[in-house]
Amino acid sequence: MSQNLAVTLTNLSLAQLVEFMASLGEPAYRARQVYRWLYRSLADDFSAMHNLPAALRARLGEVAHLGALQPLTTLTAADGLTRKVLFRLADGNAIESVLMLYAPGNDSRGRCTVCVSTQAGCALDCAFCATGKGGLMRNLTAGEIVEQVLYFARQFPSSLRAETLSRSPERSEGAAKGQRSNLSHGATVRLLRRSTPRNDSQEEAAVPGAAASTITNVIFAGMGEPLANYAATWAAVERLNDPAGFGLGARHMTISTAGLLPGIRRLAGEKLQVNLAVSLHAPDDVLRAQLMPIARRYPLAALLAACREYSDKTGRRVSFEYLLIDGVNSSPAQARQLAALLEGMLCHVNLIPLNPIAESPWRPPGHEVVLAFERELARRGIATTLRSARGVEIQAACGQLRARQDGRTRTAVTVQGSLAVGLLGLLQAIVLG
Ligand code: SAH
Repeated sequence: MSQNLAVTLTNLSLAQLVEFMASLGEPAYRARQVYRWLYRSLADDFSAMHNLPAALRARLGEVAHLGALQPLTTLTAADGLTRKVLFRLADGNAIESVLMLYAPGNDSRGRCTVCVSTQAGCALDCAFCATGKGGLMRNLTAGEIVEQVLYFARQFPSSLRAETLSRSPERSEGAAKGQRSNLSHGATVRLLRRSTPRNDSQEEAAVPGAAASTITNVIFAGMGEPLANYAATWAAVERLNDPAGFGLGARHMTISTAGLLPGIRRLAGEKLQVNLAVSLHAPDDVLRAQLMPIARRYPLAALLAACREYSDKTGRRVSFEYLLIDGVNSSPAQARQLAALLEGMLCHVNLIPLNPIAESPWRPPGHEVVLAFERELARRGIATTLRSARGVEIQAACGQLRARQDGRTRTAVTVQGSLAVGLLGLLQAIVLG
């Protein structure tokens, strides 16, 4: 069977994999073995699955494949703790994912967060966002979403760990100059050693080479609008959560939306409770509609009512993302308006200085303006976090990727990213040619 007709196994739930294996005349336990190889041992090659008969491995190689993503480019911040990967999809479209490492602190054990795309491109056309400029190519499949996480999970603790440590400032110039980066060498090692606890059954533990991933959090805030691709996004959440497989707790996953009401209501009714982040960006409908055309369909009053309903139903705090754009939405009066809107809500505001994009004259405000905005919210009792810039040097490197020549194919790459986002790393890439 050609690769085009072959089944992408990451698109299948365990139940679907059982059916697929049955179609090959294989019993259900074989499907469970393959599933564990995929999500627990993080195998990316049938030949590694050595508890399967050789003939079955060969057959699987003909009728199925394990990977729908081809990594094209990796951009790494100088501290080695933030990296963006540009993936090519089987149909030639491209998406980006970001890995962000956070050091263990007094109140946390450290995090290893993957930010995934849910669509190639985006239809929402927010004025400040580079992804929207290219329009929507298509929805990603659940497999393409899940594989972004598996990709980084596979990198740990082997190649990425080695590279991270060897590239960390303490190991190179930093060590020589006695400088400290914000994540010490020891902290990196501890972070990477802390793996998500899994409930290994005896059978699962018996899988040779099984390695739990070090990924602690997944955020659906890369390219695209997750709630406009609800089915695949939710299938990815369930797949990543499955205790028989990857086993990532629902509370370790966050879906970021521009405010698609039907999707928010649907999320509120799901059994698994993930975190909800809503991109607000303006305290009134007129300005919001200028920044985010989708706001014309879902005005603030209805959106916030749905968010209240979400936290009432789930008991969970909603996060609001608020980009700060100089002279547009960042005055103290607008902060007061925002505080009034959110009064009494179980919520948290993430303030994110705009990451400027080439197509727009907008810039982030100066630090004083940002602090004044934060102060106004804090004074009114709104829990607020100011997201700091992260991996900005990756952006600098982005320009260098433009019109990159790779010998056989000429790939012009434009990457505009806001790795400044902390919780919500933003990724956008347009690949031409
Ligand atoms: N469509 C979803 C998820 C993808 S965008 C959403 O709107 O939430 C993820 C986050 O990045 C959103 O909060 C989005 O508003 C933000 N973002 C988009 N462009 C940005 C830019 N130029 N600078 C900083 N953040 C940006």
